[in-house]
Amino acid sequence: MKTFIGCAAINFRRGRPSGFQPEAIVIHIGEGSLRSIDMQFNDPNAKVSAHYCVSKAGDIHQYVEEKDTAFHAGNIDQPAWKGLKPGKAPGSFINPNFYTIGIEHEGFADDKWPDAQLSTSAALVGEIAQRWKIPLDEDHVIRHHQIRFLKSCPGNVITIVDILGRVPPAAPVVSPAVANVKTISSLRLRGGAPSLTAPVVRTIPAQTVVEVSTAFVGDTVNGNNKWYSDGTGNFLWAGGTDQP
Ligand SMILES: [Zn+2]
Repeated sequence: MKTFIGCAAINFRRGRPSGFQPEAIVIHIGEGSLRSIDMQFNDPNAKVSAHYCVSKAGDIHQYVEEKDTAFHAGNIDQPAWKGLKPGKAPGSFINPNFYTIGIEHEGFADDKWPDAQLSTSAALVGEIAQRWKIPLDEDHVIRHHQIRFLKSCPGNVITIVDILGRVPPAAPVVSPAVANVKTISSLRLRGGAPSLTAPVVRTIPAQTVVEVSTAFVGDTVNGNNKWYSDGTGNFLWAGGTDQP
């Protein structure tokens, strides 16, 4: 199950610099529990985030939307990844956060990944690759260690080949990347989180066709906790549409 948690505003950047979009996926180990990672990314002093964390039980927490920039791989040290984009100054590099998606994993560097964690992570990698047309190979799905040598991240057990080998042949799309839904009643568009406490951006009239992307688990309304993202950081409750 994918749950949108969000993170402190200072720990990510809305959007990506002009001309950048996700071109690679960076695999991390969180060095802690899922809960400790939730707390870290919501701590305004942490200045770090990732787009996702996959738990040992196979649950996915999302902190940053894929179109936004998470702070997970900005420190470059003796890099081995040949996909790094050079900067203007000789020997410099463009911040890899601008064109990557970061996936954290619950646990520690020496942990063996439970089957549920590995299969969920692989399915998520497949889904992201499909969405952004990222090739599923070791040049585009990489270890954090390949950007920051000092970090063993994602640890000493898991390999990229392990993950790539578990990506479903045709990655199942849990919900369409982009679909049209129609509001059945007037519906409030909420900013920042799939929650009734998130600020109202605007009210969408009934019978409006809205283009939505990923479905998220959010606040439960009338027994339904499914929300759609409009792809620009806003959310609408699926129960108010023709595809609840
Ligand atoms: Zn890392």
